[in-house]
Amino acid sequence: MGWKTILSFIFFLVVIILLGFYWIAPLSDINFGFKDRNYNFSLNDSDKGMQFHSNMRFPTSSISYRIYDCPLGKKGDMEMAFEIISNKTTLSFYPVVNSEEIDVTCDSKNKRDGEFFIAGEGGPTNVTKTSNFNVIKGGQILLIRESQCATPNVGIHELLHVLGFDHSTNPNNIMYNFSTCDQEISQDVLDTIDKLYSTPTYADLSIENASAVMHGKYLDANITVMNNGLKDSQSSTLKIYADEKLIKEFDIKGLDIGYGRKIILQNVLVFQLDVNELKFVVSYDEPELAKENNEVILNINKN
Ligand SMILES: [Zn+2]
Repeated sequence: MGWKTILSFIFFLVVIILLGFYWIAPLSDINFGFKDRNYNFSLNDSDKGMQFHSNMRFPTSSISYRIYDCPLGKKGDMEMAFEIISNKTTLSFYPVVNSEEIDVTCDSKNKRDGEFFIAGEGGPTNVTKTSNFNVIKGGQILLIRESQCATPNVGIHELLHVLGFDHSTNPNNIMYNFSTCDQEISQDVLDTIDKLYSTPTYADLSIENASAVMHGKYLDANITVMNNGLKDSQSSTLKIYADEKLIKEFDIKGLDIGYGRKIILQNVLVFQLDVNELKFVVSYDEPELAKENNEVILNINKN
């Protein structure tokens, strides 16, 4: 062996050692443990809220869905997504054949005309604003991409959109606007869901915009009764008191979530003399989110 052969052999060895070093010992800081990765939805306190609007939730924590026009693989992915969220939160999901709250399809032709997604390929399609919650009455998911991951990350991402969650700015979070397999559902999202659904599914009747004028022995008044709750109300009774004495009662038919009824009274005869105070009370037998907003007291303007 000449010295050239020896040198090229040494060079060959050095190259092999260097390559081995490069492959085995990462020169850049590659984190294989993921232990200290931050998965939080909100990277800092100045982030806007996690949801599209404040306090978005379905009326109940048990939410119906229907999956149609989906191949078995994507249907299985979506069912697994429902199961994962129900295992991690107080929510539960159940399949129905019609009148579903969450509509899941895999064929873009099924996308409803005239309805738009707030984001991406999944989102609430029907939201009613009340003074307590933005109540989600329906949502739709369009699954086009098949999940390439062990967990159905795309299905979970779209389901969280339907539950009102916006995109996260954190690439490690499952709500980042580009999906990868190592993203996680963050604890702050799960905690927000559980907090939102800790409020029971009750109606919440309240009196808004009450005004009244007495002219002589006659009363004119305007009152609006709203349902700001999470459940359509049954019928209730509006009672009007003049200085604590009941002078008039009205039946108010059931009000859907977010709806109200305006009541205009004219020339209601009041027998008492010199009324100082009028009280309007919505009397409702069922539990409500709040009872204190069922009553308004007005000091009377005398003309
Ligand atoms: Zn999205």
